[in-house]
Amino acid sequence: MSTALTSRAYAESLDAGDPLAGFRGRFAWPDDDRLIYLDGNSLGPLPTATRDRIARVVAAEWGSALVRAWGEWIDLPHRAGDLIGAHLTGAAPGQVLVCDSTTVNLFKLASAALRARPGRGVIVTDDDNFPTDRYVLQGLAAQSGRELRVIRSDIDAGLDERALSAALGADVALVCLSHVAYRSGALADMARITDLVHAAGALVLWDLCHSAGAVPVQLDASGADLAVGCTYKYLNAGPGAPAFLYVRRDLIDALPQPIWGWFGQADQFAMGPEYDPVPGIGRFATGTPPVLGIAAVEEGVKLLAAAGISRLRDKGTALTGYLISLADEWLAPLGFELASPRAGARRGCHVSLRHPEAWRLSQALIAAGVIGDYRTPDRLRLGPAPLYTRFTDVWDAMDRLRRIAAARSYEDLPAERSRVT
Ligand SMILES: *Cc1c(COP(=O)(O)O)cnc(C)c1O
Repeated sequence: MSTALTSRAYAESLDAGDPLAGFRGRFAWPDDDRLIYLDGNSLGPLPTATRDRIARVVAAEWGSALVRAWGEWIDLPHRAGDLIGAHLTGAAPGQVLVCDSTTVNLFKLASAALRARPGRGVIVTDDDNFPTDRYVLQGLAAQSGRELRVIRSDIDAGLDERALSAALGADVALVCLSHVAYRSGALADMARITDLVHAAGALVLWDLCHSAGAVPVQLDASGADLAVGCTYKYLNAGPGAPAFLYVRRDLIDALPQPIWGWFGQADQFAMGPEYDPVPGIGRFATGTPPVLGIAAVEEGVKLLAAAGISRLRDKGTALTGYLISLADEWLAPLGFELASPRAGARRGCHVSLRHPEAWRLSQALIAAGVIGDYRTPDRLRLGPAPLYTRFTDVWDAMDRLRRIAAARSYEDLPAERSRVT
């Protein structure tokens, strides 16, 4: 059995039975046969439909219709938001909007939540939450005279629900957590944690950056209050593409967002003297939407929708499970340790491996054509995104990694880290 698993023929048989195999051909890959891309959880590749759509938006809409195209563009943030809601995040129409960056949306929603809980002086997050989340919350706590209560998370196993329970109380206004941990890929139980937070009378804000498009998300069914997520990872919308935000329907008109921009105004082109937010999710818009980026979001989500989130989840779990099996066989004897949850149901779609030389290994792997990334302090992070990754890609990547590790060829590389990891 173990021989079968470690043979390339086994990976080939998994590819042959893959119902999503055809989607790989819908991306514009660089002309490089050796390239194995395991970093779609950082920047997704370019779908050909997106390349064509952007070319159309540039030439026919901007280049030809000019300002008249705004008649078409004005609804894009809502249209793309509803697509994300319907296919990826379990949200009924009218609750998701594509706008701004994840960081800015996090600020907008967290501030709104604090204003909705005026008597409560505490914000809760965990020490392994993504940096921008922690910084935005630190800033908000400082500006609003609140306490930021930071619970400890295991950087491999993820959120500790008992520590969260212990941090909750009548003084807590808001809890902000990542659904899938950016380093380990640990997946939090959204419904159970949302219930815990609600029992304390607080609001919960979920960061979906590493889960949207990779694992099924059920915002409405979980009773979640607020969520944000980015579109350039599993949604493949390109570098700096705008993010999305979700506000549960019954909270939309009760949460005052802090940036009073004209795109959130009720009768925008009346150019009236006072801010009067439009009813509905549109009030969370700020200024002019980035049209090219939102067009790319729409194409990216359509592609994921065609694959179907449950098939994506099944394949993602199989790919990461297979990667872990090969790591057990080949890499554990070479000093690697699994730094992600072993149970498929507890993991998103990337796997981290711990090794003291993770940085140089990540650089040697890139030189060998395998693109993953390094995360502090000593993690090699590999994301086999299910839409386009083959089981043979995982086999080849792990095979190259074990050769590099066995030959210690990474020792020739500089130990200093580059500016971007
Ligand atoms: C990628 C990521 C972000 C990025 O935020 P930006 O505003 O797009 O830079 C935020 N949170 C998490 C959990 C992420 O993984």
